[in-house]
Amino acid sequence: MKKFSKSLVWAITILLGISLLYSAVAGLTAQDKEISLSDLVAKINAGEVAAIDIVDASLAVKLKNGEELSAQKEAEAGLTETLRNYGVEPAKLKDVQIAVKSSSGMSFVLGVLLPILAPVLLIAFFIWFTGRQVHKGSMQAFTFGQSRARLISPESETQKTTFKDVAGVKEAKEELKEVVDFLKNPKKYLDIGAKIPKGVLLMGAPGSGKTLLAKAVSGESGVPFFHMSASEFIEMFVGVGASRTRDLFRIAKKAAPAIIFIDELDAIGRIRGAGLGGGHDEREQTLNQILVEMDGMETDARVIVMAATNRPDVLDPALLRPGRFDRRVVLDLPDINDREEILKIHMRNKPIVDEITLRVIAERTPGFSGADLANLVNEAAILAARGDRKKVEQQDLISSIEKVLLGPERKSHLLSQEEKKISAYHEAGHALVAASLPHADPVHKVSIVSRGRAAGYTMKLPSEDRHLYTRSYFLDELASALGGYAAEKLVFNELTTGPHDDLKKATDLARSLVTRFGMSDKVGPMTFGEQEEMIFLGRELGTSRNYSEETARMIDGEIKRLMDEAFERAKKVLTRRRETLDAIAAVLIEKETIEREAFNTIVKEKV
Ligand code: ADP
Ligand code: ZN
Repeated sequence: MKKFSKSLVWAITILLGISLLYSAVAGLTAQDKEISLSDLVAKINAGEVAAIDIVDASLAVKLKNGEELSAQKEAEAGLTETLRNYGVEPAKLKDVQIAVKSSSGMSFVLGVLLPILAPVLLIAFFIWFTGRQVHKGSMQAFTFGQSRARLISPESETQKTTFKDVAGVKEAKEELKEVVDFLKNPKKYLDIGAKIPKGVLLMGAPGSGKTLLAKAVSGESGVPFFHMSASEFIEMFVGVGASRTRDLFRIAKKAAPAIIFIDELDAIGRIRGAGLGGGHDEREQTLNQILVEMDGMETDARVIVMAATNRPDVLDPALLRPGRFDRRVVLDLPDINDREEILKIHMRNKPIVDEITLRVIAERTPGFSGADLANLVNEAAILAARGDRKKVEQQDLISSIEKVLLGPERKSHLLSQEEKKISAYHEAGHALVAASLPHADPVHKVSIVSRGRAAGYTMKLPSEDRHLYTRSYFLDELASALGGYAAEKLVFNELTTGPHDDLKKATDLARSLVTRFGMSDKVGPMTFGEQEEMIFLGRELGTSRNYSEETARMIDGEIKRLMDEAFERAKKVLTRRRETLDAIAAVLIEKETIEREAFNTIVKEKV
């Protein structure tokens, strides 16, 4: 559209230019006031005319007062003869200087040819112009198929990443050192007849450093790194993905040794045929092309394909066959030591005050991914800059934890007195139930300042990293999730829309307990719902049902029982500790936020 209007402006400019030129040229010949021959004769007889220039059939008349006029005569007859026919007085005519001039070549050509040539030229120009556009377009159609891979060349110092930039993930690094060694000394491996992996699949939660690690492999081995996100393979036109794939592999082979990194492999590598409506042709074609390329690659091609996914469970088994992505590297979320290391890496080039203890931050951030931590450090730097400080302080980091976790504080979101009271009791309910049950995570902070989408929040963090969760933990969590709802009901005997998010989360948790973890005695040790997902237009429609109506009823019954029991437990705690609940709510109304220590004091004081 933009292009079209641009060429339109061009065309109009040119058109204007030509017509200006034309009128200027035409003006050369007829810029004077035209008079009839009889008028001219009358003027001669009156003795007003000084000179007449004859150019073909036109007469340029110069009057004695300096005025210039023009007139036309018949082309065949001579001027004197014509004038005489009009009754000019011969005596007067003698006073007039008459000069015959040949028509000037230039003005003739322009005056006569231009009106004919201009449209022809214009049309020719248009044909040429549109032709050029079409040519450009066809070049574009040609580049459709070209890979859009981003390249990090080994010479680039700014983008160079090494294993030093990656903290934690020790096992993954060990595995990948082998790949680095192969890229550096392929001969050693080939001589002994060893088959080198063609594909390495990096699996891990979003932000766990998959891209970073792949870049580090390329940086360590000093080979170019071709980066492409799987979703970029696919465009509107069928076949583009496949040709992009072909192109990417062709370029990489030329640059060998090299690494091809395909991000979000699950976007194209999902189990084929799992989509509704006949599957997604384009996705399958692209996937097939990747498989073809990987199979066709010689062992000595020295191109290693690394791919990242956070959903290894949905990948097409064909991708995981030997000779394809047969190396699988798992990246775990960082534990407390790793988190400290990651923080250190990201604090490296930031000015900090001396008395920062990153350990404290690492302790308070269980469940954070590497990307979350990088984000946290950045937020802290922004906070420091906003406060016009030159160095990042501990408090900046601590404040950023909540920001990363829950989104920015929304101080402008003002609550009315009544809303404030309800919010305070709601959050106090969550916190008190959690604090009163033995297996729930300890409360770190309670607040009625809204953050992100939450109106208020109770921040609970596990005291250490968890890998296994027990049933008692889940039951206590379920009860504290309903603590807000229970408090509202107990105190105000009324309900608001506040807890709807809590209810959804709690119900989801209860459903998982029954259908995924086998934690309901009545339903027993079984999972329900197919793992295979339905995809329609790129959206997951949820899991399909692989159990009977009867079982469905039983599952629903169990979920309801779990929810009811959790609600009863929450209500019992709050009724028993009503005084404590009131105390917490009172502090919240006054101060809006209670930190861990203050909270613990209140809870301990009033048992
Ligand atoms: P993924 O590809 O797994 O989603 P990325 O590799 O893109 O995650 O990680 C995003 C950012 O998080 C990285 O650029 C880096 O700054 C930071 N990061 C993640 N993991 C680590 C780690 N182990 N060590 C240092 N930084 C990390
Ligand atoms: Zn709540």
